[in-house]
Amino acid sequence: MGERRVKLGTIVVRVLAVGCIIAATGSSQADSKTSASSSRTYKSSGWNILETANFRFCCRGPLAVSAQIVKATESLRLELAEQWLADADPEGWKPKCDIVLHSTSDAYLKAVPGGGATVGCSLINTEGGQITGRRIDIRADQAGWFGAALAHELTHIVLADMFPDGRLPAWADEGMAVLADPGVKQNAHLRDLRSAHTQRQTFRLVELFALDGYPSSERQAAFYGQSANLVRYLVNRGTPDQFVRFVRSAADDGYEAAVREVYGLRGVHDLERRWLQQVTTTVAVARN
Ligand SMILES: [Zn+2]
Repeated sequence: MGERRVKLGTIVVRVLAVGCIIAATGSSQADSKTSASSSRTYKSSGWNILETANFRFCCRGPLAVSAQIVKATESLRLELAEQWLADADPEGWKPKCDIVLHSTSDAYLKAVPGGGATVGCSLINTEGGQITGRRIDIRADQAGWFGAALAHELTHIVLADMFPDGRLPAWADEGMAVLADPGVKQNAHLRDLRSAHTQRQTFRLVELFALDGYPSSERQAAFYGQSANLVRYLVNRGTPDQFVRFVRSAADDGYEAAVREVYGLRGVHDLERRWLQQVTTTVAVARN
C-alpha cells in the first residue's frame, strides 16, 4: 500500500493574489438546482458534500462551490487527460476524487502538515498498482483558488492515472503541473530559473534526472523553475503525448536511450546543451 503526497512550491502563495481565473461564489449552499444535472448534495459525518460524476467537493461549513466551478472541474479532468495522451479516453474515476475545501488556514494545515506556504496539495493512495484514493486539499479561503491551485493539483491526479506504477519522476510531474498554472505563476517560476541560472545553481540534467523525489528546501525554487522550463522546452520540440512517451521510455530504458529514441538527439548532454542555449537566450532577453 502506498501514499504519495505531491508538493507545491512556495511560489504559489507569492502569486496567489493575482492568480484568479474563476472565483468561488460566496458562501451560499450549493443544491441540486444550481449544480450540474449529475450532481447531488448530502451530509456525511459532519461534512457537506457535493458529488458529481468524478468528484466529491467536501466542506465542513457551507459549500462555496458554484455550478460553474463544478462544470469547469469535470471539463478540466477531460482536457488534461487529452492534453497529455492524444488518444485518451479516460474512464470514470472509482474512487472519485475528493476535493476538500478548507475555510481556514488552521483546518488546511491540520490536513496538510507543513503546508504553510501552499494553497493546494494532492494525495494519491495506491495498493497493488491500483489507485485506491484521490484527494486534493485546497485553501478555499483564498480568493481564486480554482485558477491558483486546482488546475495544478488536478494535473497531478490525472497524471497518476497514466503512471499508476508511480514511475513518474517529480521533475516531470511538477513541470507538467506548472503548465496548468496561470501565466503569472509560470512567469514567477521562470524568474526563479533565471535567478538560479545566473547564480549557477541549476541542476545538471543528469542530476535532475537522478533525483529521488524532491530536492532540499533551498533548491526548491531552482527545481520548480528548471522542471517547468525543461518540460515546456521538450513539449515544444514535439507534442505533449510525445513527452509522456519520453518519460515512460526513460523509466524503462534510461534517459540516454529515451532522449535518442524519442527526440532523436545524441543523448542527455546534447539535450542539456540545446536546452541551456534556450535558457541563456531567455535570460539575455529578460535583461534587455
Ligand atoms: Zn505540484
